[in-house]
Amino acid sequence: MFAAASASSGPAVAVRVCWKAGGCGAVLSAVQAAGATPAMAPQRSASGPTPNGAANQRWNSSALRRTAIPAAAPSSSSIAGRRNRTSRTSRTSHTSPSSPSSPSAPPSRYSHSQSSRRPRLAIARVYNSAPSTQTRFFSESRRRRMADVVEDEDSFDPQSIERESDMVDVCIIGGGPAGLSAAIRLKQLANEAGNEDFRVLLLEKAGEIGAHTMSGAVIQPDAINELIPNWLDEDNPERFEFATPAGKDSMNFLTKTMAIPLPMPPQMHNDGNYIVSLNQYVSWLGARAEEVGVEVYPGFAASEVLYAPDGSVCGVATNDVGIGRDGKPKDSFERGMEFHARVTLFGEGCHGSLTKQVIKKFDLRRDSDPQTYGLGIKEVWEVNPEVFEKGKIVHAMGYPLPYDLYGGGFMYHFGDNLVTLGLVTSLDYKNPWLSPYNEFQRMKQHPLFRKVLEGGKCISYGARALIEGGLQSIPKVAFPGGAIIGDSAGFVNVPKVKGTHNAMRSGMLAAEAAWNALNTDADAAAAEAAEAAETENAAAEEDEDGRVKGDTVFLYEYEEALRKSSIWKELKEVRNMRPSFQTPLGMYWGVLYSGIEALVLKGRVPWTLHHKHADHENTRPASQFKKIDYPKPDGEITFDILTSVSRTGTNHEEDQPVHLQVKDWDKHTEETYPEFQGMENRFCPAGVYEYIEDASKPQGVRFQINAQNCIHCKTCDIKAPKQDINWQVPQGGEGPKYYMT
Ligand SMILES: Cc1cc2nc3c(=O)[nH]c(=O)nc-3n(C[C@H](O)[C@H](O)[C@H](O)COP(=O)(O)OP(=O)(O)OC[C@H]3O[C@@H](n4cnc5c(N)ncnc54)[C@H](O)[C@@H]3O)c2cc1C
Ligand code: SF4
Repeated sequence: MFAAASASSGPAVAVRVCWKAGGCGAVLSAVQAAGATPAMAPQRSASGPTPNGAANQRWNSSALRRTAIPAAAPSSSSIAGRRNRTSRTSRTSHTSPSSPSSPSAPPSRYSHSQSSRRPRLAIARVYNSAPSTQTRFFSESRRRRMADVVEDEDSFDPQSIERESDMVDVCIIGGGPAGLSAAIRLKQLANEAGNEDFRVLLLEKAGEIGAHTMSGAVIQPDAINELIPNWLDEDNPERFEFATPAGKDSMNFLTKTMAIPLPMPPQMHNDGNYIVSLNQYVSWLGARAEEVGVEVYPGFAASEVLYAPDGSVCGVATNDVGIGRDGKPKDSFERGMEFHARVTLFGEGCHGSLTKQVIKKFDLRRDSDPQTYGLGIKEVWEVNPEVFEKGKIVHAMGYPLPYDLYGGGFMYHFGDNLVTLGLVTSLDYKNPWLSPYNEFQRMKQHPLFRKVLEGGKCISYGARALIEGGLQSIPKVAFPGGAIIGDSAGFVNVPKVKGTHNAMRSGMLAAEAAWNALNTDADAAAAEAAEAAETENAAAEEDEDGRVKGDTVFLYEYEEALRKSSIWKELKEVRNMRPSFQTPLGMYWGVLYSGIEALVLKGRVPWTLHHKHADHENTRPASQFKKIDYPKPDGEITFDILTSVSRTGTNHEEDQPVHLQVKDWDKHTEETYPEFQGMENRFCPAGVYEYIEDASKPQGVRFQINAQNCIHCKTCDIKAPKQDINWQVPQGGEGPKYYMT
């Protein structure tokens, strides 16, 4: 249950606090922990007017909306207006006057009469400017409060300041293909139903939509064809203009100097597919989302899952900003915000930092294999026109990776003389001396790649973990209050190296399920509310946790729809290919078995091969292997890691708590260094981890984390042998600023 606490923090901001311990947002616990004064303490209003004049405060969305400060929802005209907006200031506020709701809109709790009183956050968003940071208008009242406490700096606990909050219908975490597709589909459904005020809010940690997106990418267009059928039409002024149709296609087995062509199974062909820069594509999708009325907030990193009193997910909170490395608030301190929602969709991509918490909390992996991952490292080059073959697609296995390691290289020619090339190295590798970054540098020296790169210029670099587990590693995707979509759940078709179409489709399926669930639920709740009003005792309709009975949404329909979808069909067909590489014969058996599966069996076998271990469990002690001496970079085709990082546009404020959380650095060194000889330094593609010689330390080395270089690939969280590195979001808007990746 919530009670309106304050409306003084800004013209368009509602502040609410939870009245029950353990309630949504855990605001109450934070307030209590800080010894809040009665004035700050949450209050319950069982029924009757609140300070805002709201009646029947209930733990449900309709009640929350009644507490909101009057502000307008984006109208169709304001949305249309956004289309052509280029100035930053015109994007900052969502307080434009609303148009009257459609006369045909069904009467529901999402109807305009209520939603026109919704809170609107005053948020300054930064587009196309560096550095991109999470910027919010800090209300006068909060400044005063901060000033008060600064007098007693030592006892000040930043968490004692309550967070601003907003209530929406659906909150989506992550502005990748999955999150944006879910958001667009939801708003399409709402707009078709005449309910333009249905609020869909999307939070993205990158300073701009697409700035953290790193992929291949050859995309299969089935999902986008359905979502935005005219996405390529010449007569569509908002079409995506940068898709290169797939052309010549080849698969090669590499020795150190030779490339041996392999037969391509029919399902691996790329006929009808497109080569894109996924970060450009995602940025375009972001604009389409805004067009249909999604509230898109780049620069907002969701750092905490919020739970309702009944244990269901009821939204997320963003992290506090302006905290120093010592954990103390700086002058720039701003408390995070809470975003409450009836449905929360996690589309954080591979190994999401909140998703992993939700998976654990609801034990969603109870019937699935551990997830396994690869690390993709890539560069984009401008090459000489003589070697450029627009649309050409090259895949490779073998060199430089050892025979017992799954992975492979790719090179796609797209746009105007651009070539994107990369190497995916499976993270179940055993040898801690291996460096995926240096393997990629070696790959570029192979004649197949070198002849294309010579005389060209590297313009971009990036790295990102990707999902490899396939069907048997998909967790349960629905939980009370929300669902997991896209790579966060794990729908990548590994043999095809394609996940975008499945990520998008899963987002669309989750959107449809959420829309149906909310509308069905809305009708039921309206009936309940009417009944409750008759008894004049709304509280009697609440369960012992204070929630309205039946108010928690569970997206059963999404789980079911997934199983009937093309995602399931294609992942089932290839389910045994990736695990077939895990036998002692490694690549040789894997290639043979996968060839038979792809050409003959097509998944129609009664068995399913399993992933028995998480990737970090496969790492063996360094003493069991010979150290790998990688050649020095030549500065033309191969580069040192810091030069590469400089091509990512990465930026993190240094004076903030390290977002790569290692509880005790000395203990980490004691437990990890002797056995693995500093493997963190070799698996990180951004040079974040170092062991610096230090005679005063028992191991003769000191562990160091250069967090400002982090490019958010998540490899450390996956591969750290003792699982003692916890990747958490840094301040919103920080991290890489990818270009053409
Ligand atoms: C090297 C490589 C090559 C690939 N090649 C191809 C290919 O050729 N074809 C293909 O179809 N697929 C390819 N893929 C896979 C494809 O990129 C993914 O399947 C797809 O991007 C998944 O989309 P998503 O939306 O689930 O996740 P993502 O694209 O990862 O998007 C997740 C978004 O969520 C944001 N986010 C994460 N956590 C938070 C948080 N807490 N708060 C706010 N925002 C958050 C991230 O910044 C990101 O923008 C490749 C992947 C890699 C790494
Ligand atoms: S610190 Fe971790 S997440 Fe960041 S770049 Fe290195 S391995 Fe990737």
